[in-house]
Amino acid sequence: MPIKKTEAFVLRSFNWSESSRTISFFTRDEGRLPLNDRGGRSLKGKRGRPLNLTHLEITYYDSDKPTAGHLSETQVLSNWTFTKDGSLGRLAFSSAACELLYHLLPENEPHRDIFSYTLKYFGSMDTVERDCLPSVFLAYFFRLCSMLGYRPVLTGCAICGRSVKSLESDRASFSPDRGGLVCATCQVPGERYIGLSTEDLVRAVTLQAGSLESAAAEEIGFSQSSRLIDLLLVFLKTQADLGKINSLEFLEKLKQANV
Ligand SMILES: [Zn+2]
Repeated sequence: MPIKKTEAFVLRSFNWSESSRTISFFTRDEGRLPLNDRGGRSLKGKRGRPLNLTHLEITYYDSDKPTAGHLSETQVLSNWTFTKDGSLGRLAFSSAACELLYHLLPENEPHRDIFSYTLKYFGSMDTVERDCLPSVFLAYFFRLCSMLGYRPVLTGCAICGRSVKSLESDRASFSPDRGGLVCATCQVPGERYIGLSTEDLVRAVTLQAGSLESAAAEEIGFSQSSRLIDLLLVFLKTQADLGKINSLEFLEKLKQANV
């Protein structure tokens, strides 16, 4: 088995015995990569435990057989503390990114641009003002969709291409199945549409085109950010068969409990 080294962070771990587990990493060179961590759960293990939300360098034994590679060593390159005001939100939004990547990235396919972009995102989650956390998450989420080829069409009709400025009502209709807005002429009775207010649409277009830096200067209210996050989740569930994102459900409960 060849031995390899790459930068990585943990997406998810599965325990399969008292002492061992499989860790799904996002690596710079191989994309999403599951590795067996033999003895990694044992307290006596010599190797440091690969912590979540930590930029690591990992050394591993590669294998041609799927899921047969295993972890040899890990070293911390840098980490984020998420201790600023709003710590739980910072952690939940960062974990949500890991969950999205786990569900959306194919195995063993490098995505170096997404890898670098996500490290930058964790840095923003660690430092931006609390009120801007939802907008930074949404900017990340929109960009991630685009980078993976799931860019929702928000500036015109996804079917006929008519620009959104010529859409007649003050409420646009978004079709998760068609992958974007659909004008009144192109709508088909019985299909599912989500109504979007002009205010939500303008915000979504700004976030989709913006950077993490520009989002970090933008405060969005909780209800608007919830609506836009839900829109993207429904869109991805339809387009990419996305599973449940626990961190976002956790955040929703947190907000309802008014923490
Ligand atoms: Zn149309």
